[in-house]
Amino acid sequence: MTLKDSFNRDINYVRIAVTDRCNLRCFYCMPEQGIVYEPKVHLLSYEEIIRLLTILGQLGFTKVRFTGGEPFLRNDFTQLIEKTAALNFFESIHITSNGTLIQNHIPLLKKLGITKLNLSLDTLNEERFKKITRRNDFSKVWETLHLLINENFRIKVNTVVMSGINTEDILPMAELALKYPINIRFIEEMPFNGGAKENHKIFSSKEIFSILKEQYPDLKVLSGKHGDTATEYTAVHFKGKIGIIPAFSRTFCTTCNRLRITANGEIKTCLYDGGVFSMRDFLRSGATDLEVKEKFIELVRLKPKDGFEAEKFTTKSIIRKESMSSIGG
Ligand code: SAM
Ligand code: SF4
Repeated sequence: MTLKDSFNRDINYVRIAVTDRCNLRCFYCMPEQGIVYEPKVHLLSYEEIIRLLTILGQLGFTKVRFTGGEPFLRNDFTQLIEKTAALNFFESIHITSNGTLIQNHIPLLKKLGITKLNLSLDTLNEERFKKITRRNDFSKVWETLHLLINENFRIKVNTVVMSGINTEDILPMAELALKYPINIRFIEEMPFNGGAKENHKIFSSKEIFSILKEQYPDLKVLSGKHGDTATEYTAVHFKGKIGIIPAFSRTFCTTCNRLRITANGEIKTCLYDGGVFSMRDFLRSGATDLEVKEKFIELVRLKPKDGFEAEKFTTKSIIRKESMSSIGG
């Protein structure tokens, strides 16, 4: 079985933020001083996460992504991924990470067959990395990226493109896909920065595309998989691919297959909906598995048509106060 929403979309992909803590301070995600972290007791426990994933597995979810905050900061993260793999519900388990803490876990990831990792890297310039993340970890991330490539992980690099900050990194980042069998994805900046800045001027996916097209005139679009948010491209001699994600323009909603669970157990049926239900409180009020299942079915049915529709029912101030570190991206 696969859950369908009221727009006949199959919803079978869950993204769960396992923590709101992070060791970087990317300025498009949170303020310099960080966000006010939830007390640990407000975060979903190991048992609650496994219970929710089991129920979602029974409801036909086939793909799970662990994200955060930085997922590898969570003390029981390795137990969580081991247990999730043992549930045998998910065809693929994915992780999004900033790449600073993965190195020691590579053997475990390989053992569990978790080979699909998204690594966030917005620049190849060490100074700019420091400016963007407010931390000095470029060489660690760079080294980890190469380790993972050498170990045959399937890597997607997430690059948030910010007007006036790292647009000059677009071509050097794209060149990585020429040299290595990895996927470089350029993401429009979204307004989830924990109140770090009021306005952000979007560097649009169209602008990103035109820079790439000028450099690689033979860039050609690839046919994507259902549910993809990125439009993918390749060009002659490329070992990997380039993707562009119109995360702010939101042109991909018609094939959305996602449900999000934030670090404090809030359900988001759309990134832009501000959070629609506290599954944590529901679990803690003694809800049975059947009640939780029915709630998921109801929430999926209420999933809005697209990110603009979702935004109508929330307020701008909520969105701007939210940090991607608690939502999970
Ligand atoms: N800490 C991990 C990392 O950075 O990969 C996982 C969590 S992070 C919130 C997930 C993704 O969201 C990252 O690729 C990050 O670049 C992206 N992200 C964070 N804030 C964003 C924003 N305001 N607009 C677009 N993408 C954002
Ligand atoms: Fe941390 Fe990821 Fe947010 Fe950067 S984008 S501050 S690495 S959660």
